[in-house]
Amino acid sequence: MLAVDEVTTKYGALTALHAVSLHVNEGELVALVGPNGAGKTTLLSTVVGLLRPTGGTVRFDGRTINGLDPAALVAAGLALVPERRRIFKDLSVAENLRLAGVTAKAPDRKQRMEQMAELFPALHEKWDLSAGFLSGGQAQQLAVARALMCDPKLLLLDEPCLGLAPTMVDVIFDLLQRLRSQGRTVLVVEQQAQRVLGIADRGYVLRTGTVVAEGAGPELASRADLFETYVGGS
Ligand code: ATP
Repeated sequence: MLAVDEVTTKYGALTALHAVSLHVNEGELVALVGPNGAGKTTLLSTVVGLLRPTGGTVRFDGRTINGLDPAALVAAGLALVPERRRIFKDLSVAENLRLAGVTAKAPDRKQRMEQMAELFPALHEKWDLSAGFLSGGQAQQLAVARALMCDPKLLLLDEPCLGLAPTMVDVIFDLLQRLRSQGRTVLVVEQQAQRVLGIADRGYVLRTGTVVAEGAGPELASRADLFETYVGGS
């Protein structure tokens, strides 16, 4: 579904991605891990058109998408939940979701709202509450739910557990597993490398802008050498 082929992305003189290749097949949960500054966010930003690669190609659903603007990519079925979650704090939870699904036809929007209520029971309890009153974990769930309101073909998540309390981290991991079992296609960047690889179909380890390992998630998670050398932490 997504094919990143030899992509190079630069910030001025700094090359953040050096000919990176990775792919995500339909229905897969793919984890992208690596130390701070490895280029994980840069990769996601390149895929969703926020950054233009200076080399290589990004293909989505068989179509080359380099250089398309982010709005066109959302329409094509890509949705990014960025590291700093984007929600409207002054709007209620339900209003946040309705707004995120504004381009959908009314019956589809209604059906997706029902799906979100089922997928995120903790949010459903707070449907009419201002989103500003949500906990960090609930706000993250709302950010993911907003992305799902567009019914994306591919969901990209950038560090969904960042700054969350351990119990909320468990909730997000549970959510990732449920998305996987629903057959959603997800590319997730996560600091808790071994844990996310443990539940991923496949994974990639990125270091200083280069893919240094790839393979089945649990297999990568079991490679202690990789984590001592490249990723660090749990
Ligand atoms: P983290 O886990 O800390 O978010 P990351 O793996 O997502 O790290 P990136 O944020 O993609 O890494 O950064 C890759 C490299 O590009 C780093 O050297 C970083 O300093 C640099 N970089 C990132 N954003 C910019 C920017 N806007 N301008 C210049 N350099 C940048």
